[in-house]
Amino acid sequence: MKLFSIFGDPVNHSRSPLMHNSVFKTLGVSACYSRTHLTDGSQLRNVFEAKKLSGANVTVPHKEAAYAQCDEVRGIAKTIKAVNTLVYEKGKLIGYNTDADGFMSAIQSFGPIKNALILGGGGTARALSIALRQGEITPTVLNRSSGRLDFFIQEGIEAYCWNGFTADDYDLIINTTSAGLSDDELPIPRPLLIELLSRSKGAVDVIYGKETPFLREIKISGLPYKDGSDMLLAQGVLASYLFLGGEFSLKTIEVPMQHSFSL
Ligand code: NDP
Repeated sequence: MKLFSIFGDPVNHSRSPLMHNSVFKTLGVSACYSRTHLTDGSQLRNVFEAKKLSGANVTVPHKEAAYAQCDEVRGIAKTIKAVNTLVYEKGKLIGYNTDADGFMSAIQSFGPIKNALILGGGGTARALSIALRQGEITPTVLNRSSGRLDFFIQEGIEAYCWNGFTADDYDLIINTTSAGLSDDELPIPRPLLIELLSRSKGAVDVIYGKETPFLREIKISGLPYKDGSDMLLAQGVLASYLFLGGEFSLKTIEVPMQHSFSL
């Protein structure tokens, strides 16, 4: 039996085990997907190997650590420098980033978008900023602190910390911070958020499965919005495709994975 897991801190909230196990069961694949609570990201590869995993997903806050521990990184993850999917291939740890394509697929329903403001500067913000730019949508990044801005500035993406940012018009406001995940915080100060939402056409919170304070403010604003469920599904389908070595089509994987959302 092949073993897979998701690494994160926190990781209890993750729906990935349900999603991937549902695919394995429906497609008759002998595999099992578990959760691994990992506090020290530098131990990711050691734990992956000790558990004899065939593949894994990586969530907050270990995506950059995962990138650093791969033998080879493929596709958009090379630019993003953050990995959310690991596959063991002939004794080598290969890293991918399926968040980027998953997000782009999820925002199709907003229609044409010219620019977007990304709140947060972590692995997900990197993935989304590069994916948006590839999709000809201009990203701007706003993070709480300045420590993580270098990546964006080096990529030629406008990036600010709270000090030094002035509100502007953005088609989409995207929360990629973990504010609201296991606390009751907003990703940016409330007056600034309210002004940004009043000048925007839509909003996305990449957190899923709960009403975050950010999501509550979007609902009050009346803007079209999405939580992270569609992105979760799309990134999961792409990860499962990689785990299964391309043996099953994306559509074949999507049906049981989508079904797991109603369980
Ligand atoms: P990282 O740990 O890499 O980055 C977290 C970011 O959030 C940092 O920029 C940090 O700012 C900021 N932040 C944390 N707490 C606060 C706060 N209280 N107020 C303001 N900013 C804060 O996380 P990831 O990028 O890996 O993940 C971020 C979120 O995205 C998680 O909630 C995760 O669950 C979700 N996610 C959802 C997906 C989906 O499929 N729906 C896919 C991927 C991620 P600072 O630099 O100042 O510390």
